[in-house]
Amino acid sequence: MAEQHEHQTVTDSPAEPLRVVGEEPDTSRGTVQPITVVGNPVLHRACRTVTEFDSTLAELVDDMFVSMYAAEGVGLAANQIGVDARVFVYDCPDDEGVRHIGHIVNPVLEELHASHRQLDESPEGCLSVPGAYADLARPDYAAVIGSDKDGNKIRVEGSGFFARCLQHETDHLGGYLYIDRLSKRDRKDALRQMAESTPKYQTVPND
Ligand SMILES: [Zn+2]
Repeated sequence: MAEQHEHQTVTDSPAEPLRVVGEEPDTSRGTVQPITVVGNPVLHRACRTVTEFDSTLAELVDDMFVSMYAAEGVGLAANQIGVDARVFVYDCPDDEGVRHIGHIVNPVLEELHASHRQLDESPEGCLSVPGAYADLARPDYAAVIGSDKDGNKIRVEGSGFFARCLQHETDHLGGYLYIDRLSKRDRKDALRQMAESTPKYQTVPND
């Protein structure tokens, strides 16, 4: 998921250090990969379930973190660097000033209890739809269960902007972009914004 302007003041403010949940990755290990964009088939089909928790998976997570940081994103799914695997990474603030950092393998969104079905309509963007933003209503709380890269079961939950991120990235692994959730008109507008902008990071050209 792409960083939002309104959150930059939060992440850039040295006077107000954020509480951190998770661990900062060792970015010396990964290699920056170009980002796939809307129209690339790898983004429009469900990713494969990960079955091997090996060094290849660990390297994938390393590459995903540095690729996300290079593109200044707050979340990245494996198919956004062209890899067909159910994995995403995040380094994303919530609305309470907490910075969440981590990765999850084979994530599944938990069903929401009625008390958590509060919708929040906010702007959303995606590194795979560069330069575009659109308002989208999503539940303001989300929890995903899955594994870490070593195969340990984990559960990640969050609210506000981070809840949006968890849902956005899980959607990616199912083959869906946030623009697939927009009305026809808003989708067209997002694609127009993308056509009129130049990405600030390397992308994979579509044929
Ligand atoms: Zn995205």
